[in-house]
Amino acid sequence: MPNLRLARRVGRIQPSATLALTARARALKAEGKDVVALTAGEPDFETPMAIRESAIESLRKGGAVGRYTPVGGTPELVQAVIGKFRRDNALEYRPEQVLVSCGAKHSIFNAIGALVDDGDEVIVPAPYWVSYPEMIRFFGGTPVVVDTSSTGFVLTPEALKRAMTPRTRLVIVNSPSNPTGAVWDRAAQQAIADAVAGTDVAVISDEIYEKLVYGGQHVAFAGLSKDACERTVTVNGVAKAYAMTGWRIGYVGGPAPVVKAMNALQSHSTSNPTTVAQLATLAALQKDPDELPRWRAQYQARRDRMVAGLNAAKGVKCATPGGAFYVFPDCRGWIGKRHGDAVLKDDAAICEALLTRALVGGVPGGEFGAPGFVRFSYAASDAEIGKAIERIQKFASELV
Ligand code: GLU
Repeated sequence: MPNLRLARRVGRIQPSATLALTARARALKAEGKDVVALTAGEPDFETPMAIRESAIESLRKGGAVGRYTPVGGTPELVQAVIGKFRRDNALEYRPEQVLVSCGAKHSIFNAIGALVDDGDEVIVPAPYWVSYPEMIRFFGGTPVVVDTSSTGFVLTPEALKRAMTPRTRLVIVNSPSNPTGAVWDRAAQQAIADAVAGTDVAVISDEIYEKLVYGGQHVAFAGLSKDACERTVTVNGVAKAYAMTGWRIGYVGGPAPVVKAMNALQSHSTSNPTTVAQLATLAALQKDPDELPRWRAQYQARRDRMVAGLNAAKGVKCATPGGAFYVFPDCRGWIGKRHGDAVLKDDAAICEALLTRALVGGVPGGEFGAPGFVRFSYAASDAEIGKAIERIQKFASELV
């Protein structure tokens, strides 16, 4: 047997915990267990019919749908992205500042790949989405994690400045946040923009949950000032807003030299995102689907139900998030307790017991840099949410 050595860079990363736990919950379901999987952040709604129809039509037509497109997307889609940024965010990009990729995750991967060198430091506010630190490590950088749990899950300029060193190359901003659902208001984001002004630090602003804000208003980081725009790669995509996770289309607007490097990287990996998905996205980006306001109202009602249900569970504290479709309850009150013969020594043990004993899937907060918390996605049907709450409350009442 040859001794096949793996590259050191893959030794620095772990498989995605969100995806691994989703697969685990699905496997239990396939075995016939009645699991409520609140693991993945994936809308339970159908991709709107008008979007699917436009894909079907282009497949019938043939021709271009079966061919490569330019690496960064068709000229029409690039124009639609420019139009979206103008309409929703008052941002003006030229075509060379836009790149369409295979999902927002791919956009972020390309951006980190284009910006981060060996030894560079990247400031990652915690709780963070699982993939940011992994991607940073993959490209040889060092994630500098800054805890925001004592400041309402908002990064303060003081904490940011304390974490910055001459090696800081990049700051990650993510509002609305995965996993906390926190929405950073204009003042909070402006304070971050002011803290990096005058430096050579870049910003990746992951705005994939932009359309899912309840009450407040989404703020595009690059729209704060000319300086913010010149240093920011704005990431967005169709997955969460339009129930299009499987289509894998993300996109960015950003400084032309950074986008050019991202395009070069993409040209050697995936080439263009799948053509039929680009054609479907064109329909989605020209105008928000009619379903969106109804979905948003449904998510908000589910959020309220989840927050109330979790706060009624013994030992749990849950803040009301302003956006996305996650709740992030503090379950530290459960640590050290027992459920039957299972000892809840940390959030991983909590999620294991919840999954196998209460048949509710969640993701341990430790995966997001917040041990003792658990992330539940409420992008699930009302019936599933009702079942999950009942089971979590029963589980909490059985702890000793
Ligand atoms: N972004 C979603 C989540 O956090 C989907 C899975 C993933 O890409 O991490 O659950």
